[in-house]
Amino acid sequence: MTPALQFQFDNRFVTDLPGDPEEENFRRQIQNACYSHVDPKPVVRPELVAYASEVAELLDLSPAACESNEFVEVFSGNRKLDGMAPYATCYGGHQFGNWAGQLGDGRAINLGEIVNASGERWALQLKGAGPTPYSRTADGLAVLRSSVREFLCSEAMAHLSVPTTRALSLATTGESVVRDILYDGNPAPEPGAVVCRVAPSFTRFGHFEILTARREIDLLRRLVDYTIRHDFPDLEVSDDPKERTVRWFNEVCARTARMIVEWMRVGFVHGVMNTDNMSILGLTIDYGPYGWLEDYDPEWTPNTTDAANRRYRFGQQAPIAQWNLLQLANAIYPLVDDVDPLQQALASFGTFYQREYAAMMQTKLGFTTGDDGDRELIAELLSILAAEETDMTIFFRRLAALDINAPDPAILTDAYYSKDGQARVRERTERWLSDYAARLAFEGIDQDERRAAMNRVNPKYVLRNYLAQLAIDKAEEGDFGLVNELLDVLRKPYDEQPEFDHHAAKRPDWARDRAGCSMLSCSS
Ligand code: AMP
Ligand code: MG
Repeated sequence: MTPALQFQFDNRFVTDLPGDPEEENFRRQIQNACYSHVDPKPVVRPELVAYASEVAELLDLSPAACESNEFVEVFSGNRKLDGMAPYATCYGGHQFGNWAGQLGDGRAINLGEIVNASGERWALQLKGAGPTPYSRTADGLAVLRSSVREFLCSEAMAHLSVPTTRALSLATTGESVVRDILYDGNPAPEPGAVVCRVAPSFTRFGHFEILTARREIDLLRRLVDYTIRHDFPDLEVSDDPKERTVRWFNEVCARTARMIVEWMRVGFVHGVMNTDNMSILGLTIDYGPYGWLEDYDPEWTPNTTDAANRRYRFGQQAPIAQWNLLQLANAIYPLVDDVDPLQQALASFGTFYQREYAAMMQTKLGFTTGDDGDRELIAELLSILAAEETDMTIFFRRLAALDINAPDPAILTDAYYSKDGQARVRERTERWLSDYAARLAFEGIDQDERRAAMNRVNPKYVLRNYLAQLAIDKAEEGDFGLVNELLDVLRKPYDEQPEFDHHAAKRPDWARDRAGCSMLSCSS
């Protein structure tokens, strides 16, 4: 029988970069190498929960191939295909502001890189497929709960046009994994799962940081050159290696800024913006205790592990990204040997971000051109939104319906969480709406056109925290229907899809304080 899965592998990362000569899989510090060979751990009884057909298409996989037994065997880690060269990579990172030393792919195993029929290259990576030399004290596994969250959110973000790693598949392993969800001394078994992630590259800031921390500067140079050549093929290269590195760093700054602007547009809070969770390509990576803003609150973070300092709260994501870029600048400093151009790049991150953020907010409000007064208008709006629990997603979606000839706050009623919330901000809202309507009238754009444009950037459907939890509750009972239904709804987040109105509803009261809905730990 011919196998259903046929890929053309070209595992550049392992052929071009030095690996760890040790073949045994035990936890250790790995010097002078970018990766270690390690095979996924076979699982007892893999079962496919869901797959993303759009990602399958990127890999030239037909629906029949994705529904084959071979598919679930391969993407749960049970079977290795010809041409695969599984490996885990070495990286370090700053966690919550402190240097944490070697971290690495502790529960991610790269299967290899494929080149599809159009010549595009995709790296395939299993998350939760068993221990690696980088697993430190942990087990290398993942539970269904966190895997549903990673799988659905990766795809939801992609369909929202937010730069992200993708998810091909989600499978349960038939094995249980013990986790203490709230870190309160109550460990319990949960179903194990594996997600197959897909991205052009999984390189993180931490891959560079670890080499500099170890003074492995020759290897640092190799990895930077490799990354520029392969992951940034469109970057204008310079023959001068210093100039090339600086140019590349500027590009990483710009991509990172664009990613954060997109998070702010859709109300996404990453939750653990450690430098090991920052993709060099500016992709959202590592979906852990992330969350979606329900009521607009710049102070909010879903991550209970970060509750005391709220370092990674919604409103702090841009400054943190800049801090992370500073760590990357420190890491590549030995190759540049000059502080100025790196500092300039970091400074321009600030101005570039502000500009892109303002432009993004203008599109959310339906403006086609910028105006000097917009900054104030936006600031006042955000202040009103934060003053009363107001659902960010519903608010912006409803705002599109405004009739600028008769601005009426009644269109916004559904966005408020408390009964008299709207009344408490009524005057401010009315004043703001009238300024807003005047601003729109001044621009003179057709109302229907404006509504359509706003609905293209203000989603109706996002992966609300409680929705993910409902899908998890069902999945843990063996019913994967809601995972697949949400995957489907989130494919078209900007479309009305009236049959799925209930998935656009604001957070119900029961979800306000429930673990998994408003509070998440790093336990996964
Ligand atoms: P995270 O906070 O999920 O980004 O993880 C930080 C580091 O811990 C990374 O190096 C992960 O690979 C590692 N890690 C997280 N969970 C596990 C686990 N269950 N087993 C092994 N390593 C893990
Ligand atoms: Mg991570």
